[in-house]
Amino acid sequence: MWTRVGLASIEGMTNSHASQQHAAFGRSLKQMSLGADDPIHWGCSMKGWNCCIDKGIVVRPYDMVRLRHAVSKPAHEITNENTVTFAWHGPTGALVGSLGHVPYGEGHVACSFYDEITNVSAARMREEDPERFASMPLSVQRAADASAANEYRVAGLCQAHQNRPEVCRAFPFQREISVDDAGVTTEHGMMRVNACGSCSLSTPTTPRQTVESEDIGEYWRAHDVFTSVTAYYRSRGAAKPDTELAQMVGYQALPISEVELAELWGSMYLVDRDATVVEQHAEQWLADLDIDGDRAIYLAVMAHALDRIDAAVAASGLALDQLGVPGQVPVLRPNIEWMLDPSRPVLTLEAVA
Ligand code: SF4
Ligand code: SF4
Repeated sequence: MWTRVGLASIEGMTNSHASQQHAAFGRSLKQMSLGADDPIHWGCSMKGWNCCIDKGIVVRPYDMVRLRHAVSKPAHEITNENTVTFAWHGPTGALVGSLGHVPYGEGHVACSFYDEITNVSAARMREEDPERFASMPLSVQRAADASAANEYRVAGLCQAHQNRPEVCRAFPFQREISVDDAGVTTEHGMMRVNACGSCSLSTPTTPRQTVESEDIGEYWRAHDVFTSVTAYYRSRGAAKPDTELAQMVGYQALPISEVELAELWGSMYLVDRDATVVEQHAEQWLADLDIDGDRAIYLAVMAHALDRIDAAVAASGLALDQLGVPGQVPVLRPNIEWMLDPSRPVLTLEAVA
């Protein structure tokens, strides 16, 4: 059964398991830097054997906006049903989401959107849902004719495919980015953060070609905004105080309760409760896909998140040099409208130095 958790107790939505999984994802032994145009042999088989099983899938606020369409539900229902759970991220003190899991095989877990097709289930689909069967890859259609005596995995489909999170779209690649005091992100290169092993094809390509085919620019611009807003929050004392960053540098926290802190961060995820979204984009989550609408919603929600932290700082009566990392220049309020402009290029690198 799902546990119902409301906005007022968003702190209760956190769990250390998700936090550990995020850490594991980012520190894989297979992690290596790559030039965006380095020649590689790789191709996605869409089986999901090494990206949808035993992986912690990060959900940032824009991922949440998109996931609403995959499940035709508003964001607060997604969190109440634990389709996304939350943890405080140690190095940044930010609240970060994670996709839920279901048991898979002996001692493993699969993403809750993972839909594994075997030769047996393919044959059953042909009988019971011919329309869906006709839309399946050739490998699935061929497997339906195989013997049912020996059941084997054919494909792993994503039930959130066109709105799946950023890390899934780019897997196994990620950008390396940093943010400066002006709240502007800089791209440093690409990383291969995991290996697909026998799941992948061996097609000559480059990291740039693989991610461009996923039309990932919208997600990366949104990621830049979240990185900048996280830096802004951290410099205003709104990082989770007992995370490793805060403990290491004598962090000066905003004097608010943990529930208030969680509500500040949680407002970035519970987007359908935002006043502008209620007024101008009610039930927009019912659309299968609405990239322009999602961008407008994300812009409104993140602008309000910046307004909220400004108001909390003003209410505290503290000066900016009394908050955040001691001695650090306060991060400027990021220009998120410019950052989200679809004409702003991403992955502009020629190669990694
Ligand atoms: S090739 Fe890699 S990214 Fe594609 S489904 Fe397999 S594990 Fe996932
Ligand atoms: S959202 Fe889709 S692609 Fe991502 S882990 Fe889940 S099933 Fe795999």
